[in-house]
Amino acid sequence: MSILVFVENADGEVKKTSHEAISYAAALAEKLGEQEVIALSIGTEVNDDTLAALGKNGATKIVNVADEKLNQGVIQAYTTVITQVMEKTNATHLVLAKSSLGDPVAARVAIKANAALASNVVALPDLSEGFKVKRSIYTGKAFAWMSLSTEKKIIAIKKNAIEVKEDGSDVTVERLEVPLDENDFNVNITKTEKAEGDVLLPEADIVVSGGRGLKGPENWQMIEDLAKTLGAATGCSKPVSDMNWRPHHEHVGQTGVKVSPTLYIAIGISGAIQHLAGVNSSKYIIVINKDPEAPFFKAADYGIVGDAFEVVPKLTEAIKAS
Ligand SMILES: Cc1cc2nc3c(=O)[nH]c(=O)nc-3n(C[C@H](O)[C@H](O)[C@H](O)COP(=O)(O)OP(=O)(O)OC[C@H]3O[C@@H](n4cnc5c(N)ncnc54)[C@H](O)[C@@H]3O)c2cc1C
Repeated sequence: MSILVFVENADGEVKKTSHEAISYAAALAEKLGEQEVIALSIGTEVNDDTLAALGKNGATKIVNVADEKLNQGVIQAYTTVITQVMEKTNATHLVLAKSSLGDPVAARVAIKANAALASNVVALPDLSEGFKVKRSIYTGKAFAWMSLSTEKKIIAIKKNAIEVKEDGSDVTVERLEVPLDENDFNVNITKTEKAEGDVLLPEADIVVSGGRGLKGPENWQMIEDLAKTLGAATGCSKPVSDMNWRPHHEHVGQTGVKVSPTLYIAIGISGAIQHLAGVNSSKYIIVINKDPEAPFFKAADYGIVGDAFEVVPKLTEAIKAS
């Protein structure tokens, strides 16, 4: 018996959310007893050393379906690979990150493998009565508990909900062949355009975001200075991009990019519900706003009540000096 973990990558590196998924699977294996934790990497873009290091997160075995045709992330092909590897490895559970790739893949594997699927899971299951998982719902404003009664189960983990385990050790990587046919590539990605910038917003570990409180695009230098000092990506609220103060790919929120950094710094942003919907998976939120009644303070871990034009340059200087 095994727990299979689907590993996602970007730019040759394993995504943080997949480290979380493996850590979750390792803890689940301990709860269930006598389960192997097999990390499945698809494609050829991550090297063996990087894959082997997934043992530190608790994977006991790594398998790599190293077919170059799979490098583009075609959902149907991934579904075939994962379903077949589940069978080959006797996996009763599939754990993966809830993401733009994980969601459609998980739904399709659930149908093919006749498995129950719980998405946005934030904690290990309660096994006292069957298999009950806690999920985050309504963009993080409530929780729901769900019982999975099928033999096979799929668990999609919410970003930043699980601590990454790092005390394991490297394990060897095995190649696995999976037969694929033309039907698996009925849809092909013909072109991919990536947003430019030192740090890409959807993947960023730190995001510095500005709102209408900054008064105009000419004042964005201080946001960029702070972001550069922290190695962060820059974001903004919707009106800021609507007014063309900033490019649209920086717009964060319900109708924009959903971010899940370790640290989100919101400067001169009121904290409207539509903005919060895109940032409430952040691990820590710092709010800088001159209005102590700004709704964002209710969602913040730390807050500074003050004028951004005074606070932000001082903060940047203090970080540079530290
Ligand atoms: C269907 C729909 C979808 C939407 N989707 C999104 C979305 O995805 N993302 C999004 O962001 N919004 C979205 N919105 C808009 C959202 O409702 C808010 O209007 C928007 O988030 C407000 O942006 P803001 O906080 O930058 O501006 P404001 O609401 O104008 O707030 C500016 C803030 O800056 C503070 N401030 C002013 N001067 C200073 C200063 N000198 N120093 C410090 N603080 C200062 C003020 O106290 C205030 O809190 C959506 C709205 C709708 C109806």
